[in-house]
Amino acid sequence: MNKVVKSDAEWKSELSSEEFAVARKKGTERAFTGRYWDHHAAGIYQCVCCGSPLFRSNEKFDSGTGWPSFWAPAAAGNVHTETDRSLSMERVEVLCAQCDAHLGHLFDDGPEPTNQRYCINSAALRFTPKE
Ligand SMILES: [Zn+2]
Repeated sequence: MNKVVKSDAEWKSELSSEEFAVARKKGTERAFTGRYWDHHAAGIYQCVCCGSPLFRSNEKFDSGTGWPSFWAPAAAGNVHTETDRSLSMERVEVLCAQCDAHLGHLFDDGPEPTNQRYCINSAALRFTPKE
């Protein structure tokens, strides 16, 4: 996989201010405000920064948290995780494997079959409907 590396100035010119704050500066959108938490169309959720296919509608579920939630990524290699010790908590951060965009966090209280919950910011995603 070819890594996508750009400067903050380049990302800033390509993203909205909220997309930049979330995806490049590890921000978190407020719950129930994002464009995809209550979005149910069939298709692919791509990285807002580099377009990599990260999640699919097939694995999306309604977690009640106000953020788009998935029980698995579109492909395991398309996301990577890191330990996040900010805010005096230990959480698992989810990032785009191709451009290191911050996507959200991973929890182990999701539904079957994986019991995983990828809690992802809408601002880090761009939806493409299924043809
Ligand atoms: Zn990306």
